[in-house]
Amino acid sequence: MAGIRRDLIMNVISAYDSAALNFALGNAESPPAFAPENSPRLLLVDDEPRLLSSLCELLKDCGYQLVTAATGSETLEHLGRLHFDLLLLDLRLPDFGGHEVMDFINDRGIDTKVIVVSGDTGIEAAIGSLKRGAYDYLRKPYTREELLKTIDNALQQRRLENDNRNIAWRLGCSEKLYRYLVDSSPDIIYTLNQDGRFTFVNDRTHQLLGFSTDELIGQHYSILVHDEDIERARYVFNERRVGERASRNVELRLKSRGGSEQDRFFENTLMTISFNSMGMYALGKEVSKQEFFGTYGVARDITERKRAEALISYQAYHDILTDLPNRLLFKDRLGLAVIQARRNLTELAVMFVDLDRFKLVNDTLGHVKGDDLLQQVAGRLKDCLRRGDTLARLGGDEFTVVLPELRDRQDAEIIAEKFLEALRHPFNLDGNEVYISASIGIAIYPTDGESIDELLRRADIAMYHVKAQGKNGHSFYEPTMLDASYQNIALEQSLRRALEQDELEMFYQPQIDVLSGQIVGAEGLMRWNHPERGLLSAGDFLPFAEENGLMIPLSDWMLGALCRDLVQWNAAGGEPLRLSMNISPNYLDRGDFFEKMHRTLLHYGISPSQIEVEITENICIRNPQHAIEQLNKLCQFGVSVAIDDFGTGYSSLSYLHRFPVHTIKIDQAFVKEIQRENGHFPVVLAIISIARGLGLKLVAEGVETAIQVHYLEQSGCTIMQGYYYYPPLSSDQFVDLIHEKRAISA
Ligand code: C2E
Ligand code: CA
Ligand code: CA
Repeated sequence: MAGIRRDLIMNVISAYDSAALNFALGNAESPPAFAPENSPRLLLVDDEPRLLSSLCELLKDCGYQLVTAATGSETLEHLGRLHFDLLLLDLRLPDFGGHEVMDFINDRGIDTKVIVVSGDTGIEAAIGSLKRGAYDYLRKPYTREELLKTIDNALQQRRLENDNRNIAWRLGCSEKLYRYLVDSSPDIIYTLNQDGRFTFVNDRTHQLLGFSTDELIGQHYSILVHDEDIERARYVFNERRVGERASRNVELRLKSRGGSEQDRFFENTLMTISFNSMGMYALGKEVSKQEFFGTYGVARDITERKRAEALISYQAYHDILTDLPNRLLFKDRLGLAVIQARRNLTELAVMFVDLDRFKLVNDTLGHVKGDDLLQQVAGRLKDCLRRGDTLARLGGDEFTVVLPELRDRQDAEIIAEKFLEALRHPFNLDGNEVYISASIGIAIYPTDGESIDELLRRADIAMYHVKAQGKNGHSFYEPTMLDASYQNIALEQSLRRALEQDELEMFYQPQIDVLSGQIVGAEGLMRWNHPERGLLSAGDFLPFAEENGLMIPLSDWMLGALCRDLVQWNAAGGEPLRLSMNISPNYLDRGDFFEKMHRTLLHYGISPSQIEVEITENICIRNPQHAIEQLNKLCQFGVSVAIDDFGTGYSSLSYLHRFPVHTIKIDQAFVKEIQRENGHFPVVLAIISIARGLGLKLVAEGVETAIQVHYLEQSGCTIMQGYYYYPPLSSDQFVDLIHEKRAISA
């Protein structure tokens, strides 16, 4: 009972009902008093004082409270004031008659018994009295016993009636309570007769389904059941078993009234309901004789739960960001497609689509825009497919496709081309125009594999092959690719080992001042003495290290190695040389970059003025504030900064003002363009004029020919680095070279 909200109860029930409910809930001690309180109270009415006093005398020891009246008006006055159990009423009174008194009693609904006492011998007087509800009619003179017996009988009957009323009231109370509980139950509660017709439904039915009680009573249950569930409903609604075997929690959809017209609320029209129902049996004397007479059921609205379940299962099989199928659903679809292809002896294609340089977008523009880009990409890719094809997102920037029932391989190629074409137009991310391409690998069932995993893996290998070949393209899987991909896995392991076993080495490429012919500095370039593959250039393994999180340990090693070599050069004497070191964006991004640099230089006793760091333009947009802080600290310390690969990057020139830049390196790609003696190469000229305008030092890299040297020198760039002069040299070779040079100039 404690769980019932009293405020709710009070709102919905009348004052009388509330008294009844309060009683039923145990909040009221007793029902309203119907019963005589202590001793019965009698009103004796007679105009003859003698008779009245003899009556009083007669009844005084019987345990009654006695009140007397001699006139009609006196009687009415008493009746208005007090409550009597019995009236002993003389018919003939001086002011008005006993019948009028009884009319008054009846009109007012006064609850009392009346025994008429009269000297009137006419039958009408008796009939009139009894018609007005008199309990009995005593004709004077009567015997003492007759009177006492009649009074006793009347009071006895009154007591019985009171008891009855009391019981009825209590019954009413409990009926009200149960009714209330049933009607305010959150569930539909119903009973069916033997024919499956409703004999009872609670109020909740109306609220949930819109059918009123009157509409349902007498109707067959099937009018409520969704058409597809009728068959199942037969067993559930018409449940005749009890106990263990009675139906439990069967889910059915119920119709609600008029819902089908309102398309918007269509979801509400079919309610999924779980049932508990069992047969109701009359209590026969023997259990075996129980007689079935209907069904009792409870139907709970679980629409919300079903909706939540549907959502959860949708989310389990879909990628939330793009709404595409996820890995799980993709594998499921691929599995089905493979079975079908096997049965129909057809081919199918699995594609692995990986966006190129997506990480850069994510890092530079942030995750929100990265997500936006993924959504737009998903949309464009989806538009390229036929019905029946499945596009899924495996995670990150990886998408997969299954093209079932391939007519021939060309179909897959066409789709891949379509994908690449669809990505060719720029994406708009909040006003930023962004270009992105993809690398696509394709594997064909059954040639390239017969199982899901095999097909996926081979499409993945083909995709990596495209990446290695310069990205933005597609390729079918070829068995030879397998070797290359094993090499990649092996590469990561052996690179870690290379660090431990000291297989790495710094090489140095001299920078020449063409005016003086002197070596003015050198750029440190990492090399790997691979035990099987020989000397590997940085370009062969650093991009891989960058992608696989090895850049930090490699950079730490580089810093130490560079300093050790520099200490040796310095020991050789002569003009101190400037050393350029390449700094990976990942390394600069780390909060402790400056500290490391600072600590290491101090440790080796190297002057910061001997060091130049080379950074790429992209650094400045990744985390500009952070980069600027680090570079400023570096400059204050005395290290200078060069912009590497100038002109090829991803940013504006504005950063040139935001932190101190000392040197610009003209990228090899621009230098390579210079192939004719009298040509005109505007980009090179533009870069040179920017450097001059800002008072920056210029270095041209990748210089391979005399033509290039000549053109650059003519245009105003006089420091050069490239094979034309020297390739990257080992530290020993480099030291020898310096000695050699000094010897010549001496
Ligand atoms: P980068 O900084 O642009 O380095 C110049 C690259 O061009 C070097 O390749 C160098 O060997 C090569 N090169 C030099 N002269 C010529 C030439 O005349 N013609 C041609 N075609 N190429 C020339 P490498 O050593 O393979 O390095 C590739 C990139 O790897 C570097 O590009 C740099 O970004 C990075 N890198 C190299 N060493 C390190 C290092 O120790 N740390 C970091 N963080 N990055 C490094
Ligand atoms: Ca460089
Ligand atoms: Ca460069």
